Amino acid sequence: MTHLFDTAYADRDLGEVPGPFTLGPSPGGHALVQGTCPRCKGHTATEYRHGVPGTGTATGTKGPLADTARLLALERHYCECRHPHPDLPPDAVFVGCGASWYVRNLVTVGPGGTP
Ligand SMILES: [Zn+2]
Ligand SMILES: [Zn+2]
Repeated sequence: MTHLFDTAYADRDLGEVPGPFTLGPSPGGHALVQGTCPRCKGHTATEYRHGVPGTGTATGTKGPLADTARLLALERHYCECRHPHPDLPPDAVFVGCGASWYVRNLVTVGPGGTP
């Protein structure tokens, strides 16, 4: 898929998107959600520091990542493709196209993105 670099920044709530988005441990030991931005088609990767895998916050039998996936299914995800799209606000929290969305079916993967 081609990253649409020329798409101007716009704060758009895209609602629920089908994905696929993956959830795995980041190199820093946090939760990393990755996928393709539904708007600009760029690869987006965002680190989340709550519900971190391996910190003992999980009590379920399906493992910490499954619990984190449940938490993150309620979160709004923002495009963080790291390309400064045209009209990107200087104070933007996420460097991307401004799109945001929800993912209900995060696919949990191991370190490095392998299932
Ligand atoms: Zn985007
Ligand atoms: Zn982008």
